[in-house]
Amino acid sequence: MAGRAASKILSGARVVLPTGTVENGRVIVEGGRIAGAAPADAPSLDLSGHWIVPGFVDMHVHGGGGASFTSGTAEDVLRGVQTHREHGTTTIAASTVTGEMDVLARQAALLSELVQQGDLAGIHFEGPFISPCRKGAHSEDLLRDPDPAEVRKLVDAAHGTAKMVTLATELPGGIDSVRLLAEHGVIAAIGHTDATYEQTVEAIDAGASVATHLYNAMPALGHRTPGPIAALLEDERITVELINDGTHLHPAALELAYHRAGAARVAFITDAMDAAGFGDGMYDLGPLAVEVKDGVARLVEGGSIAGSTLTLDTAFKRAVTVDRLPVEDVVRSISANPARLLGVYDRVGSLEPGKDADLVVLDAGFTLKGVMRKGAWVIEP
Ligand SMILES: [Zn+2]
Repeated sequence: MAGRAASKILSGARVVLPTGTVENGRVIVEGGRIAGAAPADAPSLDLSGHWIVPGFVDMHVHGGGGASFTSGTAEDVLRGVQTHREHGTTTIAASTVTGEMDVLARQAALLSELVQQGDLAGIHFEGPFISPCRKGAHSEDLLRDPDPAEVRKLVDAAHGTAKMVTLATELPGGIDSVRLLAEHGVIAAIGHTDATYEQTVEAIDAGASVATHLYNAMPALGHRTPGPIAALLEDERITVELINDGTHLHPAALELAYHRAGAARVAFITDAMDAAGFGDGMYDLGPLAVEVKDGVARLVEGGSIAGSTLTLDTAFKRAVTVDRLPVEDVVRSISANPARLLGVYDRVGSLEPGKDADLVVLDAGFTLKGVMRKGAWVIEP
């Protein structure tokens, strides 16, 4: 479909570039990429009154469209990917949840093929190396300490496509595992952790560089026990993931984190599960049963929040209209930063000549109207 798509000019919109917003700008698309100049006969589409922003990049998402990235077949995974594309996410790293090691390794092999064929940008393993005290929606009996040899096994099963591993770095083997991951160019993400402030600093010094859904599944910020949150927010080496769905974070907590870290150190994620873009009902999250009611996913047993049903178009709109963040900052946090972390910023994550023509068209109220991926419309405006 994409590849040799015909050239087209999108004109009249407010276009968000890395250098700022251009009024009445235009984006030239040729051969699936953004071009610097247009052939004389290229057709033009008038998008006056709209915004054009880079396609969104989600580095933490477990499924969508009724499909799970942890247990689905290749066909299921692609259905989930397509659902998120229809909501503006043109680049996706697939996240798994805790499972048996051999099951995860098998799924990693399946997902790695989808990375090779260009449908995914990598794999994120969330669990099993996490704290039973902060397990969230992960099966307690399958959790294990981050023994570097075990961590290595999982990374190897992904055949070079593992991009991130979330782990509780305070557990036995945690710091050595962080070093191992850093040496292999895989992001060590601190999360589902019961670490103290000091233990978190130690993990960052060892090479950890991402905070998995900050605030969630970690000790709360206390004035005498600042815990991981203060350590993760203050350190320039850390990018913090935020789930901006209005359920996982109070707007004041989001504001505190966003302003402390700054736009350059935030990545908006969905942490979405199968129900995203699909609807309420009963689902499985790995081996656990989840009920989704009014768009909020909770474990049937215990009632823990079990991922979200968020899509990034909703997160974008909320960031601008509810949180009142500048559009350019939101673009950094939802496209450029996660693209850099996934190692694909040379191809996606900003609107620049030579990059893939991955973009989202929003109306003046920031509702999604169009999505283009590699020069082909996923949703035609
Ligand atoms: Zn997750």
